[in-house]
Amino acid sequence: MGLFTMTKRALANVIGKPATLMYPVKPAKQFERSRGMLEITIEDCIYCGLCSRHCPADAIVVSKDDRTWQVDRLRCIICAQCVDVCPKTCLRLVPEYKKSVAEPPFVDFFQGPPAPPKPEKKAKEE
Ligand code: SF4
Ligand code: SF4
Repeated sequence: MGLFTMTKRALANVIGKPATLMYPVKPAKQFERSRGMLEITIEDCIYCGLCSRHCPADAIVVSKDDRTWQVDRLRCIICAQCVDVCPKTCLRLVPEYKKSVAEPPFVDFFQGPPAPPKPEKKAKEE
């Protein structure tokens, strides 16, 4: 590379706009169909575990007994398998991004509401 070409390129870099984005200092552009992160409406979850069984990244852990649902966002590859198989449609991918992975926790944990009381058995007719 000649001296002239090198000087020209160096000046262009000094004067020109930055070649990279300032994310996360400046928010990234969100597109309507961007797959940003996984969200759940825990109140609608029935803890069937289908999402966990279909997750190719083993990112979801569901406990029916404890009524909990959690996703490890460092494992999640935003493939939407869990969204497609959920029978209660309580999972969705939203076009927003989580904060930097330098800011734990990396696991999003949800504790569902207590189970509704079981219906009382009818008294036997005498
Ligand atoms: S598939 Fe849906 S209803 Fe079943 S555990 Fe997962 S989120 Fe809950
Ligand atoms: S989006 Fe894909 S990788 Fe992420 S939790 Fe759902 S099934 Fe697993």
